[in-house]
Amino acid sequence: MAKRDYYEILGLEKNASDDEIKKAYRKLALKYHPDRNPDDKDAETKFKEAAEAYEILSDREKRARYDQYGHAGVEGMVHQYRSAEDVFSAFGDLFGDSIFGDIFGFGRGRGGPARGASLRCKIRITFDEAARGVKKTIDLKRSEICETCSGSGCKEGSKPQKCATCGGNGQVIQQAGFFQMRTTCPHCHGKGTQIKDPCGDCFGQGRKPKVKEIEITVPAGVDDGMTLRLTGQGEPGEGGGPRGDLHCIIEVEPHPIFERHEADVYVAVPVSYSQLVLGAEVEVPTVLDGKENLKVPRGAAPGLQIKIRGKGLPRLNYRGRGDLICELQLDVPKKVSTEQESLLRELAEMEQKEVSPRRKSWLDAIKDYFTPTIAGIAAFFGF
Ligand SMILES: [Zn+2]
Ligand SMILES: [Zn+2]
Repeated sequence: MAKRDYYEILGLEKNASDDEIKKAYRKLALKYHPDRNPDDKDAETKFKEAAEAYEILSDREKRARYDQYGHAGVEGMVHQYRSAEDVFSAFGDLFGDSIFGDIFGFGRGRGGPARGASLRCKIRITFDEAARGVKKTIDLKRSEICETCSGSGCKEGSKPQKCATCGGNGQVIQQAGFFQMRTTCPHCHGKGTQIKDPCGDCFGQGRKPKVKEIEITVPAGVDDGMTLRLTGQGEPGEGGGPRGDLHCIIEVEPHPIFERHEADVYVAVPVSYSQLVLGAEVEVPTVLDGKENLKVPRGAAPGLQIKIRGKGLPRLNYRGRGDLICELQLDVPKKVSTEQESLLRELAEMEQKEVSPRRKSWLDAIKDYFTPTIAGIAAFFGF
C-alpha cells in the first residue's frame, strides 16, 4: 500500500507552521487515542500514522528532507511504532509541554511505576566516522539514584506517608464537560506518597544530578540529522520505574571533497579537454576503498555523471552500499606553455573558431600605435 502524505494525514497544507503541526497532531492523538478507542485496530493505525507524520514534520531537518524528496528522503529516520505505548515513550515526554502527560497521566495506571523522562544529546562526528561507524563517549548530565536512601528520599529509619490529597492513588478525578479526566495529583505529583522526614543527601528527591559517561555506538552509514535511540539511558522513573530513553542527534561534519545523498556519494573529477575528447582512465578517491579507476568515455561532456556501483556508503536499514557518483568537471588551465598555446591556436584555426589575438608586449603595442603602417591601419579598420 502506498504511504499517505504526512501533511494529508495531519490535514495540513505544505506551508503549515510548527504550531499548526503540533495542534493538528494533538487533535488526532486525542481522537485516536487507544484509551478512547479500545480494541479498535483502525484507530490504532491512525494513531501511529499521526505519530510518524508528527515525528518527521516537527523536526526542521527531517521536514526539509521530506519536502524535497518525499518518503524516500526520510527512509530509515522514521521510528517504527509498534504499539501505542511505543508512541508514548517516544513523544510522551519529549516535549516540554507534554502532549499526553496532563491529559492521560501517561504511563501511570498501565501497570507498574512510570517510566523516567527521555533525555536528548547531540554528537558531532566526521564524514569518515559516519561512513565507517564509530564509538563515542559522552558526558551525560542525568539523575542517579541517591545511594544514601537508595532512592526512597526518606531519612534512615523513616518511611514515606500516603498522600492525603489523593489517598495514595497519585491521581485525582476531574470533570470537564462530558469527560471525566484523571489528572496527576498536584500535591504529590503522582507519587501517591509524601515524605515527612527527607534524606539529607538528596533533600528527599531520591536522586542526585551526576555526570555519567555513556558510550554510544554509532552504526556505519548514519546521516546528518538522524537520531539514535538508546533505550533505558534517560532519567530514572519515579518509584523505581524504568529509565526513559536517550535520544542522540547525530551531526555529521561536511567533507571537503565528498558529498552524500542518502548512501550515494558524489565526487567531482577534474579532467582536461583532451581527456574529454579522447577518453581516458583516471584515478578517483573513494570514501572507504582507497582509489578506484574511472573510465572516461571518448567524447564525454563536462558534467557527465559516471556511477561506480557499490562504492558509496553502507545503507543503514538494508544490505549493501550506495554508489560513488563521479561528476566530470572540465579543468581549464590558468597558464599554458608557449608550445601548448601554439597547439591550441592551431586547433582553433582548424575548427575555424575565433580566439582572442596573441597578447603583444606593451612596447610592441605602443610602437604599432605611433608608427602605423598601411597594413596596420587596414587591420585596425578590419579590411
Ligand atoms: Zn537520598
Ligand atoms: Zn497525591
